[in-house]
Amino acid sequence: MLLTISTTRRPAGDLGFLLHKHPGRFQSYDLSFGKAYVFYPESVDDRCTACLLLDVDPVGLVRGKGSGNGLLSQYVNDRPYAASSLLSVAISQVYGTALQGRCKDRPELAATPLPLSARIDVLPVRGGERFLRAVFEPLGYAVEATRHPLDDRFPAWGESPYFSVTVARETTLAELLTHLYVLVPVFDNAKHYYVGDDEMEKLLAKGAGWLASHPEKEEIARRYLKSQPSLFRQALDRLVVEEQPLEAEAGEPAVDKVEDVLEKPMSLNEQRLGAVTSALRASGARRVLDLGCGEGKLLRALLKDRQFDEIVGMDVSIRSLEVARERLHFDRLSERQAARIKLIHGSLNYRDRRLEGFDAAACVEVVEHLDPPRLSAFERAVFEFARPRTVVLTTPNREYNVTWENVGPDKLRHPDHRFEWTRTEFQTWAQAVAARHGYSVRFVPVGPVDAMLGPPTQMAVFQKAETLNAGS
Ligand code: SAH
Repeated sequence: MLLTISTTRRPAGDLGFLLHKHPGRFQSYDLSFGKAYVFYPESVDDRCTACLLLDVDPVGLVRGKGSGNGLLSQYVNDRPYAASSLLSVAISQVYGTALQGRCKDRPELAATPLPLSARIDVLPVRGGERFLRAVFEPLGYAVEATRHPLDDRFPAWGESPYFSVTVARETTLAELLTHLYVLVPVFDNAKHYYVGDDEMEKLLAKGAGWLASHPEKEEIARRYLKSQPSLFRQALDRLVVEEQPLEAEAGEPAVDKVEDVLEKPMSLNEQRLGAVTSALRASGARRVLDLGCGEGKLLRALLKDRQFDEIVGMDVSIRSLEVARERLHFDRLSERQAARIKLIHGSLNYRDRRLEGFDAAACVEVVEHLDPPRLSAFERAVFEFARPRTVVLTTPNREYNVTWENVGPDKLRHPDHRFEWTRTEFQTWAQAVAARHGYSVRFVPVGPVDAMLGPPTQMAVFQKAETLNAGS
């Protein structure tokens, strides 16, 4: 397996500084799956080429993995020569410093875009040349690809999935290596080691700044995290979040308008904020969380109420937090007001120690934005770990949708809602959550109640059981 990187910018030997590998030396590295070698077939003033050659030991790859399935394919396969996730591992281990964009001796060089090209001699491309171009061209690369026949001697056997690929572009070495690190395993579409949580983190870290806006981002993420559908969703959610500032540049996010327009005539939003604020006030809370605070509507109401002396808004969307900061005039708050309120960035899918020790938490119109498989993570983050005395949670009542012309029985209120619950569904979920975590729960209708369909918004007020007892 061979990765060849060249530059033509004089003095081209600078490539040696950037890769932290001296052009005059032949170097070898022991990796868990074989050996890596770095050498320079040419290093003259106007052209320098570095080769990373991997000598994969196919027997070593399966050694220690149990008795295996006895298939010959474990030993006779394309791993030794086809570029795969093993190349990414080698890039991160042998070219790790360059991958991170660091260069001790010449830091300015690491940040300078250079005319660079990378050639991979044998890249298995599931999806063919079309997919290859669809992945590299939006990133600004000129792509040259030659497909290899299965066997030169027998043209009738047809094409193999293997290509020799050269991508060229003026960019920093770190960016080129990052693209290769993420994308090589995507073409191969066959991971030969376990894909875990840390793989998702790597994808998000390495994809920062370019993957969120890539037209093939879904396919790239899906293939990268192939064997982990739930990881795929999480990774994608987070990429979508990164993307929001771009979308929102032209003005307000369109989706919020849909919900606002829909609810305006009845001002359901105001009724909801009123109901939540009074439930929080009635709980006696002084330190409150607004989980999924969005653009800060509830925060504004809470700030006006002197009972609340510590107010923390949390959201997964940085863009929403920025809007909240503007709408609340953060930079013009008096010192006393500023000391009462804080915005934090975080996700309700994870345990977060910053959320511990509060009297109450509001979670207004948030659960329906979560994927159903993430609900249990949300439940634990709020009721097991953050564990405030009181939780006030609202969500749409789907039954009510038929009363709106533009929604209807099967259409949800907001394009980003993953589901909307009927009253029975919501109450069943909330009662089970309360029972699992030692809370009691009561339900409060919000908005004009229809005799058959119930209220447009349903609200649950959870109270930690020990606080109930203590009060009685
Ligand atoms: N509570 C606000 C916003 C409701 S919209 C209001 O009533 O106006 C739903 C909000 O939940 C969005 O701001 C969205 O960014 C946020 N959200 C979605 N998933 C989240 C998660 N996993 N963690 C934290 N916030 C999340």
